[in-house]
Amino acid sequence: MPNRLFTPHEYFIQGEATTAKPKFDTQTRATSLAVYIFTPTQYQNPKCKQCSSFQSRGPASDCRVPTTKHGAGACTNCYYYGQSTACSLRIEQERVEEFAKKEKDRFEMYTSDELDELSEEQLEEWAQMVKDEIENKRSAGRCPIKKRRS
Ligand SMILES: [Zn+2]
Ligand SMILES: [Zn+2]
Repeated sequence: MPNRLFTPHEYFIQGEATTAKPKFDTQTRATSLAVYIFTPTQYQNPKCKQCSSFQSRGPASDCRVPTTKHGAGACTNCYYYGQSTACSLRIEQERVEEFAKKEKDRFEMYTSDELDELSEEQLEEWAQMVKDEIENKRSAGRCPIKKRRS
């Protein structure tokens, strides 16, 4: 079975170099380590906020996000501590997804298949609506296309 070597995180406690010693004592910890070692993950550069903090205790030296559903976008270190929902990478991903969903709800009035089926007449009607709208905005002085001063 292909696997990845586990490189423990090194940190300092009162000036003394310490190496993280991962524990397999809970299901969450064991799973996070198994995911790190045996499943495809994406190396993160920059690391998540938690991993890049001087307070980080690893346990892995690198910040990796599983490409599987484990942790739902959180890195394995945050997963290890049961802090998946707090991982800055997951929060960022959720923010992006939420935004994409809102945009989709706002603008997806037609699927691309439906668009293909529109008649030329309907398309021309739309084109006219767009032209009118631009004209309205221009005359109201809100259009980014500037009128020349006479
Ligand atoms: Zn991380
Ligand atoms: Zn994280």
